[in-house]
Amino acid sequence: MRIFDPHIHMTSRTTDDYRAMHAAGVRALVEPAFWLGQPRTSPASFTDYFDALLGWEPYRAAQFGISHHCTIGLNPKEANDPRCTPVLDLLPRYLAKDGVVAVGEIGYDTVTEAEDHAFAVQLALAVEFALPALVHTPHRDKAGGTGRSLAVIRESGIDPGFVVLDHLNEVTVREVRDSGCWMGFSIYPDTKMTPDRMVAILKEHGTERILVNSAADWGHSDPLLTRATAEAMLAAGFDEDDVDRVLWRNPVAFYSQSGRLGLDGYTDVQAAGLYAGNSIARGGN
Ligand SMILES: [Zn+2]
Repeated sequence: MRIFDPHIHMTSRTTDDYRAMHAAGVRALVEPAFWLGQPRTSPASFTDYFDALLGWEPYRAAQFGISHHCTIGLNPKEANDPRCTPVLDLLPRYLAKDGVVAVGEIGYDTVTEAEDHAFAVQLALAVEFALPALVHTPHRDKAGGTGRSLAVIRESGIDPGFVVLDHLNEVTVREVRDSGCWMGFSIYPDTKMTPDRMVAILKEHGTERILVNSAADWGHSDPLLTRATAEAMLAAGFDEDDVDRVLWRNPVAFYSQSGRLGLDGYTDVQAAGLYAGNSIARGGN
């Protein structure tokens, strides 16, 4: 089984995690830029972090046989701090780099005017750089925040096929599915979304445009919940091709739209012939 975790914060994880993830089948991941718990106080703090996501962390991942790409952006929480917002002017320099496969995490945290501004500016950057966008939906008032996010996305003119709304649940999935955007689900140990609830969503909505991630960070989280979800799918009657689609081919298709996803040397993909004849080769229009 091969697994691509499309949203995980490896900066906060140990080498034991890398080893366990590889043993579980994880061969590729995307690490979105996000807040670090401790609030940042200057744009320089962001650029050091971005450089780590592009340099140090891929090097660390490679030592464990895992391909590492990242997304770059000003997260919605820190979009509210005027000491941080000047980083918006520095983003173009990073969005031009090879390891960056999307703009993100962007979106709403508490839904303020400052978040509105950062969200719109960064969706425009995604369009300008022809990159996908990773949109974080707020944990409070998820339905309201998701609806408003979809309105801003529509207004931006970005192709909905280039956008994933993440941290969805049973309440928000349908509206996002109908929008044409991708649907992201973060599986957590004891909150928000579990492997069994994820399987129920897959049964109801199918496997198309769905991304499953562990979103693991420095909080209570588990980088092996992608594998646990795959096992739960098999136990519920999905076959191995369904699992491969949700946990590998879907994230590959989504991030391949950047034109920068390089997985050579990290997978048995070519040997398995699984790329032949599916939508990945044409970049998922
Ligand atoms: Zn995240």
